[in-house]
Amino acid sequence: MAVQDHVLVVGAGPVGAVMALTLCQRGFPVTLIEAEPGPVEDQRAATVHPPTVEMLAAMGLRDAAWETGLLSPLFHFRDRITGELVAEFDVGMLEGEVPYPFVLQWEQYKLVLAALDKAAGTGLLTTRFATRLLSFTQDTDHVHALVETEGGTETLTANWLIGADGGRSTVRKLAGIEFEGFTWPERFIKIGTTYDFLEAGKGYCTRNYFSDPDEWLNLFKVKGPGEPGIWRGIFPVPPEEPDEAALSHEGVQRRLQKFLPREGGYEIAYHALYKVHQRVAATFNLGRVLLAGDAAHVNNPIGGMGMNGGLHDAVNLAGKLESIRDGGAGMEALDRYTRQRRKAQTDFVQAQSVANKQSLSERDPAKRREHLDRLRRTAADPALHKAFLRRSSLIDSLDTANAVA
Ligand SMILES: Cc1cc2nc3c(=O)[nH]c(=O)nc-3n(C[C@H](O)[C@H](O)[C@H](O)COP(=O)(O)OP(=O)(O)OC[C@H]3O[C@@H](n4cnc5c(N)ncnc54)[C@H](O)[C@@H]3O)c2cc1C
Repeated sequence: MAVQDHVLVVGAGPVGAVMALTLCQRGFPVTLIEAEPGPVEDQRAATVHPPTVEMLAAMGLRDAAWETGLLSPLFHFRDRITGELVAEFDVGMLEGEVPYPFVLQWEQYKLVLAALDKAAGTGLLTTRFATRLLSFTQDTDHVHALVETEGGTETLTANWLIGADGGRSTVRKLAGIEFEGFTWPERFIKIGTTYDFLEAGKGYCTRNYFSDPDEWLNLFKVKGPGEPGIWRGIFPVPPEEPDEAALSHEGVQRRLQKFLPREGGYEIAYHALYKVHQRVAATFNLGRVLLAGDAAHVNNPIGGMGMNGGLHDAVNLAGKLESIRDGGAGMEALDRYTRQRRKAQTDFVQAQSVANKQSLSERDPAKRREHLDRLRRTAADPALHKAFLRRSSLIDSLDTANAVA
């Protein structure tokens, strides 16, 4: 093994944890630092698309994923105003084209725990919680990171530093890398309830998108801590609505009751409000410093693509570092990492997530009708249906990015 192979990963979210796992499995000693005192029970991402399921299964996470996740092949587009089922899509139609023709609904904190456990088993992982990156310098062969721990500050030295430290990335800011894009005026509220919407008698499946210019909705099921599972709704919160009103007991109940009136109210498992951005870093590599996941790109959650794209970054980047270590490639491989993964973002994840958000909230009645008609036609035609699945499942994004020289 070459000398230049010790990797410091900053951030133990899903991208940092999977980054650490895939690097350890390729023989890299990894130090993973996380500012929080332990693994975070983050209830954001859950939708894992087929190509990502394939990657995680190849890392040996299949048993954990099947046990604590939910296999979910169908998704619905509905008109929230009329209640009509506009289109049903079936990822099962990709049978024979991908090994796992379904979406896995697996909460990101469960993925983090499974990935950390698997990586620890390699004997190459050192995980340090309550350790926050403050600054770094780099020279020809090394990166020196100043970190803050409970005992004070210290310097960690590695050959590579990977910023998987989320949308507010310290690594990206310290590297002076622009984060180009915009912020949506409305915020998104996520509400989790133990009520089982399959029992509502409305024909819902476990992933539903409701179009409505006033209040669109994403509604899907996760396994949660166990039976009966948890349903998550994501709704827009207009700019004029104060945070406290949206997050209040009344505000949360009002949103669910307006969607499906229910005597006695809803039992709430959790709720949170998010500012939502569409941004991509100008570069994902600067010498020995790399960005992956939300540190490199953020998008709205409609379609469930942010974490998936970050996990695709992790696998791509680990492959590049491996070929540099093994002498098959030089540092220029990291420019290719940026070209490939930026393209996946700009041409697919950003474009698709913006289009998803705009079509669900379209105000113009003619455009709205046109959009719903297009979804109906797409679902009814097997070739269009499959093409839609390939795009929404990030298969096209991955294939196109990987083909970039
Ligand atoms: C409501 C909602 C639903 C979503 N649903 C989906 C979905 O279904 N599918 C999907 O693909 N995506 C989804 N996303 C997006 C997804 O949550 C993110 O893309 C994902 O969490 C990014 O993972 P990450 O590891 O890059 O960053 P994070 O999950 O943000 O992890 C970063 C970690 O770095 C740590 N950190 C930060 N700074 C430092 C520092 N200086 N030193 C040390 N540690 C540090 C943080 O504490 C954190 O643990 C959703 C987002 C939202 C808001």
